[in-house]
Amino acid sequence: MDERTVREQLVAAAQFLKNHGLLFRGEHANLSQRLDEDRIVMTRGGSIGQLTVEDLAVVGLSGRVLSEGAMDPTMQEVIDMHTRIYRARKSVGAVIHAHSPHLTAFAVAGKALPLVYEPLLRFGLTEPVPVVPWAPRGSQESVDAIVAWVEGHSGIWAVLMANHGPLVFHEDILSAARLLATLDEAAELVWKAQALGGAQPLPEAAVDAVRARMALFGSRR
Ligand SMILES: [Zn+2]
Repeated sequence: MDERTVREQLVAAAQFLKNHGLLFRGEHANLSQRLDEDRIVMTRGGSIGQLTVEDLAVVGLSGRVLSEGAMDPTMQEVIDMHTRIYRARKSVGAVIHAHSPHLTAFAVAGKALPLVYEPLLRFGLTEPVPVVPWAPRGSQESVDAIVAWVEGHSGIWAVLMANHGPLVFHEDILSAARLLATLDEAAELVWKAQALGGAQPLPEAAVDAVRARMALFGSRR
């Protein structure tokens, strides 16, 4: 994929997040997508409500900014959080951090999101979305804890940073944006299901059954 297309897809994803209510009032978020084996394209600033193709920078997976023009200091802080996920899992093509309201409530409550909503299985999730203990955003302690989940659990495609919000990663930026939308939906449903007696677990065999149907019908989600 050429750089122009990657930039346009990131802008389209930012628009998708905004249109679907996945940015909270501050519109704070950071997004990136893989350009090739060694480079990603990443947002430069902290608010993505009005993102344009110019508001993006090329960053090496070593963490070095390769584009002209400075990154906003708040972004410099989170480069590691993105690049180390790509390095930890080669199949990751995009990373999104946004304060989507329902999922962020789970992060603030320190509650893992249980895997009880079938559409999530279509994204390859096989485990609850875990909570990573609080440490300052982008700090080595925080990023090490996130990467430990990414490396150790192939069925995990999102984590919740305690007292902060979600971090989602997937094969490309639109599938990552859709995954965030589906996770936020799941968080809202689990919360509402509390009033109805609580969410019920999926049957043990659900993951395998959904995989079999995906193979049969060729549709991922
Ligand atoms: Zn944040």
